Amino acid sequence: MEIPAPYYKPIAKEIEVFEHSYAQKLSFLLKGPTGTGKSRFIEFMAHRLGKKLTTVSCHEETSSTDLIGRYIIKGAETIWLDGPLTTAVKTGAILYLDEIAEARPDVIVAIHSLTDHRRELFIDKLGETIKAHQDFMLVASFNPGYQRGFKELKPSTRQRFVAVSFNYPEAKLEADILVNETNILEADAKKLVNIANKIRNLTELGLTETVSTRLLVDAAKLIRSGLPKRLAVHVAVVEPLTDDTEIVSALNDLCDLMI
Ligand code: ADP
Repeated sequence: MEIPAPYYKPIAKEIEVFEHSYAQKLSFLLKGPTGTGKSRFIEFMAHRLGKKLTTVSCHEETSSTDLIGRYIIKGAETIWLDGPLTTAVKTGAILYLDEIAEARPDVIVAIHSLTDHRRELFIDKLGETIKAHQDFMLVASFNPGYQRGFKELKPSTRQRFVAVSFNYPEAKLEADILVNETNILEADAKKLVNIANKIRNLTELGLTETVSTRLLVDAAKLIRSGLPKRLAVHVAVVEPLTDDTEIVSALNDLCDLMI
């Protein structure tokens, strides 16, 4: 049975850029805050190109061993098990390293030779170097989060990728996304987007992350499911943003006027 294409609304020229990068086998970096459609975009592109997608969500414990592989003991034997990166390199899949900057530095070292003309992976534990399958592509995402001391990505690493920025879509597009994702009434979708843009502009609140499209999708789903609109916005948009009770209460009041 054919898997339906993931729904993705293009924001700029990202589909075209990705297709050309894929054709040229250039590594690809998706930059932008959380919840702006980066993962959805890569799912959509993998489907469009008919490629298998392997996603690894990186965190501070993610090491090159997790990606490349390890020996495991099975009964009386020690056997080698390929990690997701090695499997993708061998089979020609798209490997998506979500939040690459969170991973340990040895991950960055491990992917270097894959991101330049060599397109090869060195497996130190086996003493082997393997050439990437011609269809293999490395994709990573990164949340720049300038003011917040989020982990940085070194210029020498960034320069190994073609990079595209993701951000909150303009109002009409974002409302379309909400309607498509949740079947919410267009009028309600517009109100949610207005609320989001209002809060996004309140930079003086010093929120670490502001309202993402993901939060709006969640609020729209709750409204569609029958939760009163104000409550849906309180729990899906305002509460996830901050634990500061004064800000929560001020934002709740603001949202109540707008929904
Ligand atoms: P990220 O990977 O940037 O954190 P996601 O790709 O998980 O974000 O996006 C969060 C949600 O927002 C998606 O599940 C989808 O519902 C919605 N979304 C955001 N941007 C788009 C878009 N351009 N087209 C379709 N859905 C989108």
